[in-house]
Amino acid sequence: MRIENNLLTGDKISIQNSPNISGKFSADLPDTIVIHFTGGRSARSSANWLCNPSAKASAHVVIGKEGEIIQLVPFDTIAWHAGRSQWQDRSGLNKYSIGIEIDNAGRLEQREQGYYTWFGTKVADEWVTRAVHRNESLHSYWHAFTEAQISATEQLCILLKEVYSIKTIVGHEEISPGRKVDPGPAFPLDKLRNSLIYNDRQSEDTDAFDDVLTPTATVTADALNIRSAPKASANKIAPPLAEGTSVTILERRGNWARVSTEIEGWVSSKFLKLNNKS
Ligand SMILES: [Zn+2]
Repeated sequence: MRIENNLLTGDKISIQNSPNISGKFSADLPDTIVIHFTGGRSARSSANWLCNPSAKASAHVVIGKEGEIIQLVPFDTIAWHAGRSQWQDRSGLNKYSIGIEIDNAGRLEQREQGYYTWFGTKVADEWVTRAVHRNESLHSYWHAFTEAQISATEQLCILLKEVYSIKTIVGHEEISPGRKVDPGPAFPLDKLRNSLIYNDRQSEDTDAFDDVLTPTATVTADALNIRSAPKASANKIAPPLAEGTSVTILERRGNWARVSTEIEGWVSSKFLKLNNKS
């Protein structure tokens, strides 16, 4: 798989043009990938819908269950996949991002006879994932992704990162929480992000610690939340750490650090200042 003139070429690639686009990205963009599930019946039916003017929606690609990729919008052109959305200091993510839609039915309904898609198709048990969504607190049932889809998504993200200097991979559920649940907990989003985005940064970050056996740092925020996992939606496990609290850094992952003080938990490393070696 290669990218030539902002279009994929290679095996299992087809092109179908969507009219649902804005102009070209600004300079230095896109720098973000947004992952979605289609919530549809098949990659072909979703691609057809996203090429229909009345859909008023599109994406750069749709990835099918065999790992086949249908490209709908060139990668230098703004597609309509994110809608109302916010990430850090940005809103309206379409103008910053490449949208990847993965053919998947989404959340399933549990009935007496088994698990069903929202459009009424029964899903075999081996394609059902029971999990808690990152924006929710109770488990529910989700349509599993195929290995071929997950692998194709990863390969595409690696390629996009090489060609477009991608710095961020997010799920639609993270930029439009409350409104969207895709790609949902059946997709290994954190794993993808950790291997493609954070591993690079982590190796840069940890260089600074090479000669420090147990780095310690001081909290610089008034009140720094300490959480059960390295993400903003994870539970707070104790009252916030006060400014000036000294912590030992046990582990780092992206912009998060697992620290130990009277308790152990994850904090945003933006609000830590490393202490000088004694
Ligand atoms: Zn979406």
